[in-house]
Amino acid sequence: MRKPFSFILASGNAHKAEEFAELLSPEIVKVEAAEQKLDVVEDGESFQANALLKAQAYYQKFKVPVMADDSGLVVEALPGELGIHSARFGGEGLSDTDRVNLLLEKLKGVEERSAYFVCQLCCYFSPKEIYFFEGRLSGEIGHAPKGEHGFGYDPVFIPTKAGADVSFASDPEFKAKYSHRAVACQHAQSFFTGLNETVDKS
Ligand code: IMP
Repeated sequence: MRKPFSFILASGNAHKAEEFAELLSPEIVKVEAAEQKLDVVEDGESFQANALLKAQAYYQKFKVPVMADDSGLVVEALPGELGIHSARFGGEGLSDTDRVNLLLEKLKGVEERSAYFVCQLCCYFSPKEIYFFEGRLSGEIGHAPKGEHGFGYDPVFIPTKAGADVSFASDPEFKAKYSHRAVACQHAQSFFTGLNETVDKS
């Protein structure tokens, strides 16, 4: 078996690198935090464009393969409001709790509460070799926050396949296994496993 595909993560956040490392088998794909955080302007019009912007910036600086992700929550009843803008929903300077409360406020009386999380993963080896993997998880926005774990919109995201009454924040094991990030990593992992086998045979 060839040595693992190694990437630096386009993020200065060591915790995020650990999360990705846990979602990937180190003998196939290794991820470590970049030694320095770069300020990348994420002004792309899609998750994919933003993941690519981050990957390009880190590649230009460090000249090694980069893994970059962009994720967010799409709420069907609020088109264009969250999605790629999820981190800034309601403006700068709000806390996660403020954003969750604003979301609940905007959905007051709204019956159509479908939503999904998206993660776009960009694996950037060079300007000529770039792979994208997408993970999605469908659910709906609950009527009140539930659970103590996680971050962001976890307390109000009720994944369809977890069953009623379970939020991302109330069931961290479910989230670790089925989240949008976990699904994107599973796609990447299968792809690189196949690539590895192809390289072995040639
Ligand atoms: P990022 O691209 O991972 O930085 O995510 C952008 C924003 O999407 C975060 O600031 C959160 O508001 C939201 N988000 C992404 N992933 C999650 C998640 O797993 N749980 C809750 N919120 C998330």
